[in-house]
Amino acid sequence: MNWTPNPERYSQMVYNTCGKSGLKLPAISLGLWHNFGDDKPHQTKQAICRTAFDRGITHFDLANNYGPPPGSAELAFGRILKEDFAGLRDELIISSKAGYDMWPGPYGEWGSRKYLIASCDQSLKRMGLAYVDIFYSHRFDPNTPLEETMMALDHIVRSGRALYVGISSYNSKRTREAAAILKELGTPCLIHQPSYSMLNRWVEEDGLVDTLEELGIGSIVFSPLAQGMLSTKYLNDIPDDSRASQHKSLNPDFLSEKNIANIKALNEIALQRGQTLAQMAIAWVLRKGRITSALIGASRPEQVIDCAKAVDNLLFTDAELQQIDHYATDAAINIWAKSAEL
Ligand code: NAP
Repeated sequence: MNWTPNPERYSQMVYNTCGKSGLKLPAISLGLWHNFGDDKPHQTKQAICRTAFDRGITHFDLANNYGPPPGSAELAFGRILKEDFAGLRDELIISSKAGYDMWPGPYGEWGSRKYLIASCDQSLKRMGLAYVDIFYSHRFDPNTPLEETMMALDHIVRSGRALYVGISSYNSKRTREAAAILKELGTPCLIHQPSYSMLNRWVEEDGLVDTLEELGIGSIVFSPLAQGMLSTKYLNDIPDDSRASQHKSLNPDFLSEKNIANIKALNEIALQRGQTLAQMAIAWVLRKGRITSALIGASRPEQVIDCAKAVDNLLFTDAELQQIDHYATDAAINIWAKSAEL
Protein backbone atom coordinates (compact mmCIF):
# COMPACT_ATOMS: atom_id res chain seq x y z
CA MET A 1 0.00 0.00 0.00
CA ASN A 2 1.58 3.31 -1.09
CA TRP A 3 -0.69 5.37 1.15
CA THR A 4 -0.82 5.56 4.93
CA PRO A 5 -4.14 6.73 6.39
CA ASN A 6 -4.10 9.87 8.49
CA PRO A 7 -3.47 8.80 12.12
CA GLU A 8 -5.58 11.77 13.35
CA ARG A 9 -8.65 10.74 11.34
CA TYR A 10 -10.90 9.74 14.22
CA SER A 11 -10.46 13.02 16.10
CA GLN A 12 -11.75 14.97 13.08
CA MET A 13 -15.16 13.37 12.77
CA VAL A 14 -18.25 13.10 14.97
CA TYR A 15 -19.74 9.60 15.40
CA ASN A 16 -23.43 9.13 16.18
CA THR A 17 -25.14 6.03 17.51
CA CYS A 18 -27.45 4.57 14.87
CA GLY A 19 -30.92 4.37 16.43
CA LYS A 20 -31.09 1.96 19.36
CA SER A 21 -28.16 -0.14 18.14
CA GLY A 22 -24.55 -0.49 19.18
CA LEU A 23 -23.33 0.81 15.83
CA LYS A 24 -21.88 4.28 15.44
CA LEU A 25 -21.85 6.01 12.06
CA PRO A 26 -19.84 9.06 11.05
CA ALA A 27 -21.94 12.23 10.94
CA ILE A 28 -20.92 12.41 7.28
CA SER A 29 -20.87 9.34 5.04
CA LEU A 30 -19.81 9.02 1.41
CA GLY A 31 -21.99 7.57 -1.34
CA LEU A 32 -20.77 6.18 -4.67
CA TRP A 33 -23.91 6.69 -6.76
CA HIS A 34 -22.27 9.12 -9.22
CA ASN A 35 -18.59 9.58 -10.07
CA PHE A 36 -17.58 5.93 -9.58
CA GLY A 37 -18.62 4.49 -12.94
CA ASP A 38 -16.42 3.49 -15.86
CA ASP A 39 -16.76 7.02 -17.27
CA LYS A 40 -14.46 8.43 -14.54
CA PRO A 41 -10.71 7.82 -13.97
CA HIS A 42 -9.88 5.34 -11.21
CA GLN A 43 -7.30 7.73 -9.77
CA THR A 44 -10.03 10.26 -8.91
CA LYS A 45 -12.20 7.59 -7.26
CA GLN A 46 -9.21 6.43 -5.24
CA ALA A 47 -8.36 10.00 -4.17
CA ILE A 48 -11.98 10.68 -3.11
CA CYS A 49 -12.13 7.52 -0.97
CA ARG A 50 -8.70 8.04 0.59
CA THR A 51 -9.55 11.66 1.40
CA ALA A 52 -12.85 10.62 2.99
CA PHE A 53 -11.23 7.94 5.16
CA ASP A 54 -8.47 10.40 6.16
CA ARG A 55 -11.22 12.71 7.50
CA GLY A 56 -12.79 9.95 9.61
CA ILE A 57 -15.50 9.04 7.08
CA THR A 58 -15.72 5.34 7.80
CA HIS A 59 -18.98 4.65 5.98
CA PHE A 60 -19.18 4.05 2.21
CA ASP A 61 -22.60 3.59 0.66
CA LEU A 62 -23.15 1.60 -2.53
CA ALA A 63 -25.92 -0.17 -4.44
CA ASN A 64 -26.03 -2.88 -7.07
CA ASN A 65 -26.90 -0.42 -9.85
CA TYR A 66 -24.41 2.40 -9.19
CA GLY A 67 -22.25 3.14 -12.22
CA PRO A 68 -22.52 3.54 -15.21
CA PRO A 69 -22.75 0.78 -16.19
CA PRO A 70 -24.67 -0.76 -13.27
CA GLY A 71 -22.28 -2.68 -11.01
CA SER A 72 -19.19 -0.69 -11.99
CA ALA A 73 -19.14 1.41 -8.80
CA GLU A 74 -19.01 -1.77 -6.71
CA LEU A 75 -16.21 -3.09 -8.93
CA ALA A 76 -14.26 0.17 -8.52
CA PHE A 77 -14.81 0.12 -4.77
CA GLY A 78 -13.69 -3.53 -4.66
CA ARG A 79 -10.42 -2.44 -6.25
CA ILE A 80 -10.03 0.36 -3.70
CA LEU A 81 -10.70 -2.10 -0.87
CA LYS A 82 -7.97 -4.36 -2.20
CA GLU A 83 -5.38 -1.78 -3.16
CA ASP A 84 -5.95 1.08 -0.70
CA PHE A 85 -8.04 -0.13 2.22
CA ALA A 86 -6.34 -3.53 2.59
CA GLY A 87 -6.21 -4.44 6.28
CA LEU A 88 -8.84 -1.79 7.13
CA ARG A 89 -12.02 -3.87 6.70
CA ASP A 90 -12.85 -3.76 10.41
CA GLU A 91 -12.63 0.05 10.39
CA LEU A 92 -15.18 0.35 7.58
CA ILE A 93 -18.95 0.27 7.30
CA ILE A 94 -19.89 -0.76 3.76
CA SER A 95 -23.46 -0.88 2.56
CA SER A 96 -25.22 -2.04 -0.56
CA LYS A 97 -28.81 -2.22 -1.76
CA ALA A 98 -31.15 -3.90 -4.20
CA GLY A 99 -34.51 -2.65 -5.44
CA TYR A 100 -34.02 -0.81 -8.72
CA ASP A 101 -33.57 -2.26 -12.21
CA MET A 102 -30.36 -4.31 -12.31
CA TRP A 103 -30.62 -7.14 -14.83
CA PRO A 104 -33.12 -8.11 -17.55
CA GLY A 105 -36.20 -10.19 -16.90
CA PRO A 106 -38.66 -10.47 -14.01
CA TYR A 107 -36.03 -11.27 -11.32
CA GLY A 108 -33.80 -8.21 -11.76
CA GLU A 109 -35.61 -5.51 -9.74
CA TRP A 110 -38.07 -4.67 -6.91
CA GLY A 111 -38.34 -6.74 -3.71
CA SER A 112 -38.68 -10.49 -4.21
CA ARG A 113 -36.59 -12.95 -2.21
CA LYS A 114 -35.25 -14.27 -5.52
CA TYR A 115 -33.92 -10.84 -6.53
CA LEU A 116 -32.61 -9.58 -3.18
CA ILE A 117 -30.55 -12.64 -2.33
CA ALA A 118 -29.10 -13.06 -5.84
CA SER A 119 -28.31 -9.33 -5.99
CA CYS A 120 -26.60 -9.38 -2.59
CA ASP A 121 -24.41 -12.27 -3.75
CA GLN A 122 -23.50 -10.37 -6.91
CA SER A 123 -22.60 -7.25 -4.90
CA LEU A 124 -20.37 -9.25 -2.55
CA LYS A 125 -18.60 -10.79 -5.52
CA ARG A 126 -18.06 -7.44 -7.25
CA MET A 127 -16.59 -5.90 -4.09
CA GLY A 128 -14.63 -9.01 -3.12
CA LEU A 129 -16.28 -9.03 0.29
CA ALA A 130 -17.40 -11.85 2.59
CA TYR A 131 -20.19 -9.63 3.96
CA VAL A 132 -21.54 -6.08 3.80
CA ASP A 133 -22.22 -4.22 7.02
CA ILE A 134 -25.65 -2.99 5.95
CA PHE A 135 -27.91 -4.35 3.24
CA TYR A 136 -30.98 -2.36 2.17
CA SER A 137 -34.25 -2.87 0.42
CA HIS A 138 -33.75 0.10 -1.93
CA ARG A 139 -37.46 0.80 -2.40
CA PHE A 140 -40.85 -0.51 -1.30
CA ASP A 141 -42.35 -3.03 -3.73
CA PRO A 142 -46.16 -2.80 -3.94
CA ASN A 143 -46.37 -6.15 -5.76
CA THR A 144 -44.39 -8.33 -3.36
CA PRO A 145 -45.73 -9.12 0.11
CA LEU A 146 -43.72 -7.01 2.55
CA GLU A 147 -43.21 -10.18 4.63
CA GLU A 148 -41.29 -11.72 1.70
CA THR A 149 -38.97 -8.72 1.30
CA MET A 150 -38.32 -8.54 5.05
CA MET A 151 -37.79 -12.31 5.30
CA ALA A 152 -35.20 -12.02 2.54
CA LEU A 153 -33.40 -9.30 4.54
CA ASP A 154 -33.56 -11.46 7.67
CA HIS A 155 -32.12 -14.39 5.70
CA ILE A 156 -29.33 -12.19 4.32
CA VAL A 157 -28.27 -11.46 7.90
CA ARG A 158 -28.71 -15.01 9.20
CA SER A 159 -26.70 -16.44 6.31
CA GLY A 160 -23.80 -14.09 7.08
CA ARG A 161 -24.10 -11.92 3.98
CA ALA A 162 -24.80 -8.74 6.02
CA LEU A 163 -24.49 -7.65 9.64
CA TYR A 164 -27.49 -5.28 9.64
CA VAL A 165 -30.39 -4.38 7.39
CA GLY A 166 -32.14 -1.19 6.39
CA ILE A 167 -34.82 0.23 4.13
CA SER A 168 -34.74 3.20 1.78
CA SER A 169 -37.41 5.69 0.69
CA TYR A 170 -40.22 3.83 2.51
CA ASN A 171 -42.83 6.24 3.94
CA SER A 172 -43.80 6.27 7.63
CA LYS A 173 -46.63 3.78 7.23
CA ARG A 174 -44.54 1.25 5.30
CA THR A 175 -41.64 1.81 7.69
CA ARG A 176 -43.82 0.87 10.66
CA GLU A 177 -45.02 -2.27 8.87
CA ALA A 178 -41.50 -3.30 7.79
CA ALA A 179 -40.01 -2.63 11.24
CA ALA A 180 -42.72 -4.70 12.93
CA ILE A 181 -42.07 -7.70 10.64
CA LEU A 182 -38.31 -7.45 11.08
CA LYS A 183 -38.71 -7.20 14.85
CA GLU A 184 -40.77 -10.35 14.91
CA LEU A 185 -38.20 -12.13 12.77
CA GLY A 186 -35.48 -11.13 15.25
CA THR A 187 -33.48 -8.94 12.85
CA PRO A 188 -34.16 -5.32 13.84
CA CYS A 189 -34.33 -2.59 11.23
CA LEU A 190 -31.08 -0.72 11.89
CA ILE A 191 -31.52 2.25 9.61
CA HIS A 192 -33.65 4.13 7.12
CA GLN A 193 -32.21 5.96 4.10
CA PRO A 194 -34.50 8.73 2.81
CA SER A 195 -33.73 11.82 0.74
CA TYR A 196 -33.63 15.03 2.81
CA SER A 197 -32.27 18.53 2.35
CA MET A 198 -33.18 22.18 2.84
CA LEU A 199 -34.88 22.01 -0.57
CA ASN A 200 -36.62 18.63 -0.05
CA ARG A 201 -38.32 18.29 3.35
CA TRP A 202 -40.75 15.41 2.69
CA VAL A 203 -39.51 13.42 5.70
CA GLU A 204 -40.78 16.17 7.99
CA GLU A 205 -44.21 16.34 6.36
CA ASP A 206 -44.57 12.55 6.24
CA GLY A 207 -43.65 12.29 9.93
CA LEU A 208 -40.84 9.88 9.05
CA VAL A 209 -38.26 11.51 11.32
CA ASP A 210 -40.66 11.23 14.29
CA THR A 211 -41.48 7.63 13.37
CA LEU A 212 -37.82 6.65 13.23
CA GLU A 213 -37.15 8.24 16.62
CA GLU A 214 -40.14 6.48 18.12
CA LEU A 215 -39.09 3.09 16.69
CA GLY A 216 -35.40 3.53 17.58
CA ILE A 217 -34.29 3.28 13.96
CA GLY A 218 -31.28 5.30 12.79
CA SER A 219 -31.39 7.63 9.79
CA ILE A 220 -28.92 8.38 7.03
CA VAL A 221 -30.19 11.06 4.70
CA PHE A 222 -29.13 11.10 1.07
CA SER A 223 -28.56 14.08 -1.22
CA PRO A 224 -28.26 16.60 1.67
CA LEU A 225 -26.73 19.01 -0.87
CA ALA A 226 -29.68 18.50 -3.22
CA GLN A 227 -27.24 16.91 -5.67
CA GLY A 228 -24.98 19.96 -5.50
CA MET A 229 -27.66 22.67 -5.72
CA LEU A 230 -26.90 23.55 -2.08
CA SER A 231 -23.39 24.75 -2.85
CA THR A 232 -22.03 27.82 -4.59
CA LYS A 233 -21.55 26.01 -7.91
CA TYR A 234 -24.85 27.01 -9.57
CA LEU A 235 -25.15 30.58 -8.22
CA ASN A 236 -24.23 32.20 -11.55
CA ASP A 237 -24.38 29.49 -14.23
CA ILE A 238 -24.13 25.76 -14.87
CA PRO A 239 -20.43 24.79 -14.88
CA ASP A 240 -19.36 22.35 -17.61
CA ASP A 241 -18.12 19.65 -15.26
CA SER A 242 -21.19 19.68 -12.99
CA ARG A 243 -23.91 17.06 -12.57
CA ALA A 244 -26.54 19.42 -13.98
CA SER A 245 -24.52 19.92 -17.18
CA GLN A 246 -24.42 16.16 -17.75
CA HIS A 247 -28.24 15.92 -17.77
CA LYS A 248 -28.14 12.95 -15.41
CA SER A 249 -30.30 12.90 -12.28
CA LEU A 250 -30.03 16.67 -11.70
CA ASN A 251 -32.41 18.21 -14.20
CA PRO A 252 -31.19 21.72 -15.14
CA ASP A 253 -34.84 22.82 -14.87
CA PHE A 254 -34.46 22.41 -11.08
CA LEU A 255 -32.23 25.50 -11.21
CA SER A 256 -35.22 27.80 -11.64
CA GLU A 257 -35.09 31.50 -10.86
CA LYS A 258 -37.04 30.93 -7.65
CA ASN A 259 -34.79 28.10 -6.48
CA ILE A 260 -31.60 30.03 -7.28
CA ALA A 261 -32.94 33.06 -5.38
CA ASN A 262 -33.52 30.85 -2.31
CA ILE A 263 -30.08 29.24 -2.69
CA LYS A 264 -28.46 32.69 -2.87
CA ALA A 265 -30.25 33.76 0.32
CA LEU A 266 -29.18 30.53 2.06
CA ASN A 267 -25.62 31.16 0.91
CA GLU A 268 -25.70 34.57 2.64
CA ILE A 269 -26.80 32.90 5.91
CA ALA A 270 -24.00 30.35 5.56
CA LEU A 271 -21.45 33.13 5.09
CA GLN A 272 -22.71 34.87 8.24
CA ARG A 273 -22.12 31.57 10.09
CA GLY A 274 -18.58 31.37 8.69
CA GLN A 275 -19.45 28.24 6.68
CA THR A 276 -19.69 27.35 3.03
CA LEU A 277 -23.24 26.67 1.84
CA ALA A 278 -22.40 22.95 1.47
CA GLN A 279 -21.22 22.85 5.10
CA MET A 280 -24.36 24.60 6.35
CA ALA A 281 -26.59 22.28 4.30
CA ILE A 282 -24.97 19.26 5.97
CA ALA A 283 -25.05 20.80 9.46
CA TRP A 284 -28.73 21.66 8.94
CA VAL A 285 -29.86 18.07 8.24
CA LEU A 286 -27.91 16.99 11.34
CA ARG A 287 -29.38 19.74 13.56
CA LYS A 288 -30.67 18.83 17.03
CA GLY A 289 -29.12 15.35 16.69
CA ARG A 290 -32.20 13.83 15.03
CA ILE A 291 -30.39 12.41 11.98
CA THR A 292 -27.56 9.88 12.38
CA SER A 293 -25.57 10.67 9.23
CA ALA A 294 -25.59 12.94 6.18
CA LEU A 295 -24.82 10.92 3.05
CA ILE A 296 -22.97 13.07 0.55
CA GLY A 297 -21.52 12.48 -2.90
CA ALA A 298 -18.40 14.06 -4.38
CA SER A 299 -16.81 14.38 -7.81
CA ARG A 300 -13.40 15.40 -6.43
CA PRO A 301 -11.45 15.15 -3.17
CA GLU A 302 -11.66 18.91 -2.49
CA GLN A 303 -15.44 18.59 -2.11
CA VAL A 304 -14.98 15.92 0.55
CA ILE A 305 -12.58 18.18 2.45
CA ASP A 306 -15.05 21.07 2.28
CA CYS A 307 -18.01 18.93 3.37
CA ALA A 308 -16.16 17.17 6.19
CA LYS A 309 -15.55 20.55 7.85
CA ALA A 310 -19.30 20.85 8.43
CA VAL A 311 -18.80 19.07 11.76
CA ASP A 312 -16.84 22.09 13.03
CA ASN A 313 -20.12 23.99 13.44
CA LEU A 314 -23.27 21.89 13.87
CA LEU A 315 -25.11 24.31 16.16
CA PHE A 316 -27.80 26.76 15.01
CA THR A 317 -29.46 29.54 16.96
CA ASP A 318 -33.27 29.65 16.86
CA ALA A 319 -33.00 32.90 14.90
CA GLU A 320 -30.80 31.23 12.27
CA LEU A 321 -33.21 28.31 11.93
CA GLN A 322 -36.13 30.71 11.48
CA GLN A 323 -34.22 32.65 8.86
CA ILE A 324 -33.33 29.41 7.03
CA ASP A 325 -36.96 28.21 7.13
CA HIS A 326 -37.90 31.24 5.09
CA TYR A 327 -35.82 30.04 2.13
CA ALA A 328 -35.60 26.27 2.77
CA THR A 329 -38.84 25.54 0.97
CA ASP A 330 -39.81 22.67 -1.28
CA ALA A 331 -38.00 23.06 -4.59
CA ALA A 332 -39.86 20.27 -6.44
CA ILE A 333 -36.64 18.25 -6.82
CA ASN A 334 -37.58 15.00 -5.04
CA ILE A 335 -37.16 12.50 -7.87
CA TRP A 336 -37.68 9.64 -5.40
CA ALA A 337 -41.12 10.85 -4.26
CA LYS A 338 -42.95 8.04 -6.05
CA SER A 339 -41.36 5.33 -3.88
CA ALA A 340 -42.73 6.97 -0.76
CA GLU A 341 -46.24 7.20 -2.22
CA LEU A 342 -46.63 3.42 -2.54
P1 NAP B 1 -25.25 15.30 -2.57
O1 NAP B 1 -24.19 15.40 -1.53
O2 NAP B 1 -26.53 16.02 -2.37
O3 NAP B 1 -24.65 15.76 -3.99
C1 NAP B 1 -23.34 15.44 -4.35
C2 NAP B 1 -22.86 16.40 -5.43
O4 NAP B 1 -22.81 17.71 -4.90
C3 NAP B 1 -21.45 16.09 -5.89
O5 NAP B 1 -21.40 15.11 -6.88
C4 NAP B 1 -20.98 17.44 -6.37
O6 NAP B 1 -21.56 17.73 -7.65
C5 NAP B 1 -21.65 18.38 -5.38
N1 NAP B 1 -20.80 18.69 -4.22
C6 NAP B 1 -20.45 17.90 -3.19
N2 NAP B 1 -19.72 18.56 -2.30
C7 NAP B 1 -19.57 19.81 -2.77
C8 NAP B 1 -18.91 20.96 -2.29
N3 NAP B 1 -18.27 20.93 -1.14
N4 NAP B 1 -18.99 22.08 -3.03
C9 NAP B 1 -19.67 22.11 -4.21
N5 NAP B 1 -20.31 21.05 -4.72
C10 NAP B 1 -20.26 19.91 -3.99
O7 NAP B 1 -25.52 13.75 -2.70
P2 NAP B 1 -25.81 12.73 -3.92
O8 NAP B 1 -24.54 12.51 -4.66
O9 NAP B 1 -27.01 13.14 -4.64
O10 NAP B 1 -26.16 11.43 -3.08
C11 NAP B 1 -25.23 10.97 -2.10
C12 NAP B 1 -25.34 9.49 -1.92
O11 NAP B 1 -26.64 9.16 -1.42
C13 NAP B 1 -25.23 8.66 -3.19
O12 NAP B 1 -23.89 8.48 -3.61
C14 NAP B 1 -25.85 7.37 -2.74
O13 NAP B 1 -24.94 6.63 -1.96
C15 NAP B 1 -26.99 7.87 -1.86
N6 NAP B 1 -28.28 7.92 -2.58
C16 NAP B 1 -29.21 6.99 -2.27
C17 NAP B 1 -30.42 6.96 -2.94
C18 NAP B 1 -31.46 5.95 -2.54
O14 NAP B 1 -32.44 5.77 -3.28
N7 NAP B 1 -31.30 5.29 -1.43
C19 NAP B 1 -30.68 7.90 -3.96
C20 NAP B 1 -29.71 8.85 -4.24
C21 NAP B 1 -28.52 8.87 -3.55
P3 NAP B 1 -20.74 17.64 -9.01
O15 NAP B 1 -20.71 16.17 -9.33
O16 NAP B 1 -21.59 18.44 -9.94
O17 NAP B 1 -19.38 18.20 -8.78
